[in-house]
Amino acid sequence: KSGFVSIIGRPNVGKSTFLNRVIGQKIAIMSDKPQTTRNKIQGVYTEDDAQVVFIDTPGIHKPKHKLGDFMMKVAQNTLKEVDLILFMVNVEEGFGRGDEFIIEKLKETKTPVFLILNKIDKVHPEELLKIIDKYRTLYPFAEIVPISALAGNNVDNLLGVIKKYL
Ligand code: GDP
Ligand code: MG
Repeated sequence: KSGFVSIIGRPNVGKSTFLNRVIGQKIAIMSDKPQTTRNKIQGVYTEDDAQVVFIDTPGIHKPKHKLGDFMMKVAQNTLKEVDLILFMVNVEEGFGRGDEFIIEKLKETKTPVFLILNKIDKVHPEELLKIIDKYRTLYPFAEIVPISALAGNNVDNLLGVIKKYL
């Protein structure tokens, strides 16, 4: 099995951390500053039965300037070319305008979308269930998968689910 998977989400939700954990190399720059990832960086995850190309994107957001506009287009074009989209959110932050904007963009694609709830190490399980219920009403996500990209919780399980869609 093989395919292309794009990771999208607001800045700082943990996209690069996830990619680095999966690929096992520091190929995407991680930082607390938003928009460190200026362009798409690809990493290839290889196993005996699967090869998955991950594409880390600049965070999708409402562009405020020309560079932001360019980065937005890079991210959006990527969505049409991939087999699967991972829409990552930070469970510590509430649902915001930025997420609303991204969900509007997702409605323009036919590509299956997983909701990845990252940073579960930061919230209580009951809180997590409430967040899942909230997101379910917003978009018909193919799967909803809670993880901690930093600690590694549930990342292997997510890789298994991804393979089913390729
Ligand atoms: P990106 O902008 O979406 O690529 O986000 P980064 O991967 O650069 O991560 C932003 C910040 O969130 C960094 O300080 C990471 O260490 C932190 N981070 C990422 N994943 C997790 C997680 O699962 N748990 C916690 N507590 N922090 C995380
Ligand atoms: Mg990044």
